[in-house]
Amino acid sequence: GLILGIESSCDETAASVVRDGQCVLSNIVASQVELHGNYGGVVPELASREHLRNILPVVRQAMQEANVTYADLDAIAVTEGPGLAGALLVGITFAKSLAFGLDKPLIGVNHLEGHIHAVVMQGEGNREKEELPLLALVVSGGHTHLYLASHDEQSWHYRNVGRTVDDAAGEAYDKVAKLLGLGYPGGPWMDALAAHGNPRAVTFNFGQITPRPGAVTPNKKAIAERTGPVFDFSFSGIKTAVLRYVETHAMKPSIGIRHAALAASPDLRPAGAASLCDQQTLDLIASFQYAVVGNLMRQSFAAAEAFGVRSILVSGGVAANRELRQRFTAEAEKRGLTVAFPSLALSTDNAAMIAAAAWPRFLSGQISDDSLVATPQLKLG
Ligand code: ATP
Ligand code: MG
Ligand code: FE
Repeated sequence: GLILGIESSCDETAASVVRDGQCVLSNIVASQVELHGNYGGVVPELASREHLRNILPVVRQAMQEANVTYADLDAIAVTEGPGLAGALLVGITFAKSLAFGLDKPLIGVNHLEGHIHAVVMQGEGNREKEELPLLALVVSGGHTHLYLASHDEQSWHYRNVGRTVDDAAGEAYDKVAKLLGLGYPGGPWMDALAAHGNPRAVTFNFGQITPRPGAVTPNKKAIAERTGPVFDFSFSGIKTAVLRYVETHAMKPSIGIRHAALAASPDLRPAGAASLCDQQTLDLIASFQYAVVGNLMRQSFAAAEAFGVRSILVSGGVAANRELRQRFTAEAEKRGLTVAFPSLALSTDNAAMIAAAAWPRFLSGQISDDSLVATPQLKLG
């Protein structure tokens, strides 16, 4: 079966053709990073306009590279949420028209379920043998969520067992990078630069600012609604701690120089950027990353233990991080668990994961209809 996936929830316009929920025939992503980079973050109005401009060429290219015709398709899948309302609307309106015009089924997909299926789809046929439930950590610029995921013959089921109470991990990466005068998005820069610093130079007392399982968070009611232990995250404290460190160590002048250097040579790639930073900055970046990854690990492995889970999936943009992959892998090995990540291309936003997540829904006849609308706050599970 062939599914055309369409994704436009944030700042990438993406289309992909996937066979049987597993084989990626094409995967086209038009990123708006340069556009929004000028503003240091995603500007919703500009995002919608870019999606409108890009959607048709991106879908055409996906069809061409997959070497299939519209008549060959079995279904059209599209992200229905969560995301920016205006951005989602472009993908959904386009997918609806296409499905209506071609008389093909339309399948609305949760973006977070998509991120999880970016890993599931790459399992080498042994996914069925994996013990259920799995623990899925989705960690990106907008989300840091932990789910217990399992499936029966009919469909996948998710239960949220943790989420950030303030910033997402990727958001903390992006804000700290901005603070240090680096490019947008900040994650890839921080990843490359952290390798040149000493992760033990600065101790961030994460243990104290992160809610312990089931402990105080701003929204006790939300926690009470979730049964069983909860493994929430918090990333705004470390962002403030980095800001304080920069202020008390008078690092501001060098940040200005770096900012100017980057503005003068926007083509500079993260890997070549170490020359722009003094050792103190590199050490700060390494220490920040060490703390963030350590916190993601602590909550994830604690949840795995509490729920007796044997397999962990990590996906979303931050799952591209090299230190995160190394340390999760080492810790899982130590505990006799398995951990899996998507390929780098499928870690950040893409439409292959949307087509893949739609496949089990297609097989069990869970089709959307005309009433499908953009749902910016859509929850999973
Ligand atoms: P959503 O949160 O809705 O899924 P998004 O646009 O944030 O949307 P992604 O493309 O999955 O989704 O993730 C982008 C985020 O991942 C950014 O915050 C970016 O800085 C971060 N990121 C990308 N690569 C890395 C990396 N190597 N290390 C750390 N963070 C990274
Ligand atoms: Mg994005
Ligand atoms: Fe995403």
